[in-house]
Amino acid sequence: MRTKAGSPSPQQVAIGNNPERSRAHNRRVVLDVVRAHGPLGRTRIARLAQLTPQAVANIVDELASEQMLIEVGRLRSGRGQPPIQFAVNPNGPMTAGVEVAADHITTVILDLAGQVRASRVSPLDDSRPQQVAAILPRELSLMRKTIPDWAGKLLGVGVVMPGPFEIEGMTSVGPTTLPGWGEVDATKLITRSTSEVVIIENDATAAAVGERLFGAGRHLSNFLMIYFGAGLGLGIIHDGQPLRGAFGNAGEIGHVVVAPRGRPCPCGQNGCLERYSSVQALREKLAEVGIDATAGIDIDIDSLGVEGQSAFAEWIEEAAAHLAPMVAMLENIFDPETIVFGGSLSDATIDAIIARLAPLPRSVSSRRIRALPRVIRGQTGNLTAALGAAALPLLETFTPKLDLAAGPVPTPEEAFHVVRS
Ligand SMILES: [Zn+2]
Repeated sequence: MRTKAGSPSPQQVAIGNNPERSRAHNRRVVLDVVRAHGPLGRTRIARLAQLTPQAVANIVDELASEQMLIEVGRLRSGRGQPPIQFAVNPNGPMTAGVEVAADHITTVILDLAGQVRASRVSPLDDSRPQQVAAILPRELSLMRKTIPDWAGKLLGVGVVMPGPFEIEGMTSVGPTTLPGWGEVDATKLITRSTSEVVIIENDATAAAVGERLFGAGRHLSNFLMIYFGAGLGLGIIHDGQPLRGAFGNAGEIGHVVVAPRGRPCPCGQNGCLERYSSVQALREKLAEVGIDATAGIDIDIDSLGVEGQSAFAEWIEEAAAHLAPMVAMLENIFDPETIVFGGSLSDATIDAIIARLAPLPRSVSSRRIRALPRVIRGQTGNLTAALGAAALPLLETFTPKLDLAAGPVPTPEEAFHVVRS
């Protein structure tokens, strides 16, 4: 992961006025530097983090005592006493990610080095809030037991589910949302049932975070992710951070009308993008030729038979036709480095959709010289959303940023260096 730790912005200087915020921020910078460049000695950390050696020494001691960093020996080059090298501790605190889908629940445990240490998919008979809250502690405890030499400390649990959240008439409707979640405070409910720090996110944003930390977005600061869950969502990474909007619903492209007077949608409109370019639309297309694809969304094309394969090809055509103008529109709005396609479809299916997008309509991205294609496939595969969920607490732990979690909101005086006269 690349960060801007080396080039403090005016805002980063501004938060230095508040010791608590500054301390939390510096911890993140140090962790991020070690994670991205480690193993490193204290002097190198100080140079890369642009912090004083004394500040780094204190933070490194603190992080080591919390098992976040470990000593990995001394560097055998150079003159004088070789410096002790530090790395993130792969058996230290970890994070859990949970994807709640309509018919199953996927759980992963991720260590600080970003390695998946355990993963588990369990069928879900009932995806309503109380039922999910009841089985989550069991899932987490089963996962803990599978990792040897681990004390079991979690930095947090990221939980993802399909949005949109708390929109009257849009939540809890249709087959692509989960029933009952619109009426509960999901964070409070799951925090109480797991006794962990819980972060709830929509699946597309979490998937984008997953790609940012472990996949196609590792070296990108500005990219979009079109996520095929049961519905269709957009994750937005802006300056290395997810863009959520005021209510956590930014990127809800599934219910953008792309075909006026088109197919009716459970949301009450006609011609929503999700009615054409989603796994649910694929299921309906296959159902027309008598194929029941409700059990698994990772569909094996070879097993579909002639009729099924032609229905599948028709869906690819239709999905791509409706996505291509959306891609160009998103490029014109966000000017991203690239757009990543990913989610609960096989790599071959996503590649087929991307191939059928061509020729894409012109946009600000139609440059002859580009580092990346306009659309690429994600790299984190079917675990994308759960992995992204587990990455949420990691992002909170690692990424230097100006956020409210680090302490009280700065006063205008702190934020803008206003000198009282
Ligand atoms: Zn709709």
